[in-house]
Amino acid sequence: MGSHDGYRNRYPLDFTRFDASDVESMSQKYTNKSKLAEYLNSVYYGDFVLSEIIKRFENSDSIVIYFSDHGEEVYDRSAFVGHGNLSRFVVEIPFIVYVSDAFKTKHASLYQRIKEAQNQRYMNDDLIHTLLDVAGVSMRDYEPKRSLFAKDKSLLQSRIRIIGNENFSEDYDRLK
Ligand SMILES: [Zn+2]
Repeated sequence: MGSHDGYRNRYPLDFTRFDASDVESMSQKYTNKSKLAEYLNSVYYGDFVLSEIIKRFENSDSIVIYFSDHGEEVYDRSAFVGHGNLSRFVVEIPFIVYVSDAFKTKHASLYQRIKEAQNQRYMNDDLIHTLLDVAGVSMRDYEPKRSLFAKDKSLLQSRIRIIGNENFSEDYDRLK
């Protein structure tokens, strides 16, 4: 369940690191500080789970790619909490790439391309191209320019990123 609403149910009590007093500086009148602290605890626990997964791959030739299926809006601009609204807080996601030391040595040029992509604009509907790139698989419909780690970044820099559904859609780069 990751950090879905019902945040207090998303982490063991041992991982209660934040409480309402830690979010004191957030002065918005609509913020439920306790609930925001519970959200932070759920993210803290999620980080722990991810670190435990990564540890299992530290000593082998490995790459670990992690991302959320969506973001979460938690009092970012109103009293709204959740991900049913279309906003940048809901479509922006953590995207983490871990590579082991053995990976860096054995795949030096790919590692270089991964590092260069750290702040690359991207949208995950093209993720299949990134995975094929990493795996070194070529097949019909694979477009190297759509890989997050593409050498030629012209398409990544210019493509329009439409978010939403059949009822409502928006150009992400025009979202407030
Ligand atoms: Zn979800």
